[in-house]
Amino acid sequence: NTILYNDSFLAREQGKVDMEDRGYQFGDGIYEALRVYNGKMFLLDLHMKRLERSARELRLSLPYDTDHLVENLDKLIRDNQMDYGYIYFQITRGAIARKHRFPLEKIDCVLTGSIEATTKDEDLYPDGIKVSLLDDIRWLRCDIKTLNLLGNVLANQEAFEKGSADAILHRDGVVTEGTTCNAFMVKDGILITHPADHFILNGITRIFVLQLAERLGIPVEERTYTTDELLHADEVFLTSTGERVAPVIQIDEQLIGNGVPGPISKRLLDAFNGEVERFISD
Ligand code: PLP
Repeated sequence: NTILYNDSFLAREQGKVDMEDRGYQFGDGIYEALRVYNGKMFLLDLHMKRLERSARELRLSLPYDTDHLVENLDKLIRDNQMDYGYIYFQITRGAIARKHRFPLEKIDCVLTGSIEATTKDEDLYPDGIKVSLLDDIRWLRCDIKTLNLLGNVLANQEAFEKGSADAILHRDGVVTEGTTCNAFMVKDGILITHPADHFILNGITRIFVLQLAERLGIPVEERTYTTDELLHADEVFLTSTGERVAPVIQIDEQLIGNGVPGPISKRLLDAFNGEVERFISD
């Protein structure tokens, strides 16, 4: 198993992090996770744009440009002979004696990337999932894809302990997103999702699903909605790189719709799967 370490390729065991790496000490860094189909990276440009935005927002300069990063990630796929799976990569502000403020002298960012092989359709839940509704205790810059995921981790764990696949989070009764995904609801044929502001991560899958909805002629409203609206929705689903479109059929004790995936969720998942198949055979 080969990993990417800055601009080098190493055996997994050789990838070591300094104990004073700011990613390790403060979560001071950013990441991306994208899916590989048939040896190719899906929705790559959108992931690279988001990475550049995250870097800008944290005033973190990437160790090299995204064109070179893409070359390295391609090599990572080939070296590992991976057809299907995920690439995860992160960039921290680097290692230096621990102080909260940014280092005064220039230090090198630390970039690491690794792969996880899966089957083509792994992590899909076409039959739907149960989730829990939990408080969103995260900070106010959820739009940046940072390594600081403790609020997500705690909620995901609580959901797991409740026998749920994930949690849908809310701030004072306003639904934001999932712990690893974006949340959508359908009411009277209209697709509704939280606007892409600082309360949510603008998921690449969210962007793609909104494009699919437009193509399918499904009306969309990007607006906030309450937990009460969520619980009385006709359909609810989650979107993420791993799950594509995951219908939610139950939230805690409450069944959504008839407790089976609804028609709009199914149409969007089918359209999404069709796009993946086209991408594979292109
Ligand atoms: N929201 C959060 C908090 C996430 O962690 C993720 C994915 O990691 C998403 C949404 C979905 O983003 P994407 O569709 O880019 O995977």
